[in-house]
Amino acid sequence: MATHNLLLLPGDGIGPEVMSEVVKVANWFGGQGVASFETQTGLVGGCAYDAHGQAISEADMALAMAADAVIFGAVGGPKWDGVPYDVRPEAGLLRLRKDMKLFANLRPAICYPALADASSLKREIVENLDIMIVRELTGGVYFGEPKQIIDLGNGQKRGIDTQVYDTYEIERIGRVAFELARKRGNKVTSSEKRNVMKSGVLWNEVITALHKRDYADVQLEHQLADALGMQLVRWPKQFDVIVTDNLFGDMLSDVAAMLTGSLGMLPSASLGETDPKTGKRKALYEPVHGSAPDIAGQGIANPIAMIGSFGMALRYSFGLGDAADMLDKAIADVLASGLRTKDIATPGEATVGTVAMGDAIVAALGKIAG
Ligand code: NAD
Repeated sequence: MATHNLLLLPGDGIGPEVMSEVVKVANWFGGQGVASFETQTGLVGGCAYDAHGQAISEADMALAMAADAVIFGAVGGPKWDGVPYDVRPEAGLLRLRKDMKLFANLRPAICYPALADASSLKREIVENLDIMIVRELTGGVYFGEPKQIIDLGNGQKRGIDTQVYDTYEIERIGRVAFELARKRGNKVTSSEKRNVMKSGVLWNEVITALHKRDYADVQLEHQLADALGMQLVRWPKQFDVIVTDNLFGDMLSDVAAMLTGSLGMLPSASLGETDPKTGKRKALYEPVHGSAPDIAGQGIANPIAMIGSFGMALRYSFGLGDAADMLDKAIADVLASGLRTKDIATPGEATVGTVAMGDAIVAALGKIAG
């Protein structure tokens, strides 16, 4: 049985509450002999600042670099609003992304039939929605240089950000999208603004050439990012995998997220490059939501986004697609049975807490396993 080393970084607020439910799920798979998970736990965010004066300690960074996967909860909260900028809670997550070179952010938007009425769109538009947004995470306008505000000396200032992409950056994110599509609906929609941006022209050329060269079996279409934003709310089920840059991906993945209802439902994965020697890639899995200080400590947070993030680790880091499918089915079964945490309940509906939802998912896994 393969052993996988996990670094758990629960973080702040509801992070530790939802992470406890992941531990239950991992132990269940371990008990079934699916794989053995060895876990270590570290500090990140405000709790790391309290303990070490840093958003993540060097020792925990070293554990993250050595782990087969990092499972990350959430960071931040009003307690740390006044801490120095470079040690603010988010700096821990940014350091992890940077040092682990996590260039590919995968955000699935799945709408379980049982929750279709929680979407702001009509049921028939979102029911059974299953799309994957692949966002480039380490390049583009968030990191390009020059990035500055200059004083023009005439009472005016100029703010400058630089949108920049090299061929290799576009190719490697394109590969992630095409490979994913082959295991899903076999369709990639690539998105940029080639009508007004040179980086968009290059993006389009590189993705088109890559497709022709290595992925001609996958259906490829191009949509301008503004048109894609419109199509996402008009008829989202036309999409399978969407690949786009850092800036457009940031916005479009938030739009897609809201199609599915609650933040408490949304997992994500961030992947680095595959090491040619070991065939492994660095990876961090985290829910899309934050530390939810408004409900922290009350035991009412929805653990599904966090558990779903562990499911993505099973699929993308450990090659345990069957186990991941089983976990997805367990979540769908629990939702279909009517169990709800507060964030996904309709007004007046009975709700359960974090622990009961985690227990129910483990029980559903048991039923599926027979
Ligand atoms: P948030 O995602 O923490 O919460 C937004 C709303 O959604 C809140 O009302 C919250 O109660 C609810 N919510 C979120 N997750 C939930 C869950 N699992 N179950 C039930 N309800 C849930 O966003 P925010 O309030 O804007 O930010 C709070 C803190 O989290 C801030 O310090 C922010 O900087 C930080 N943050 C961290 C991350 C991260 O760690 N990756 C991401 C976003 C925000």
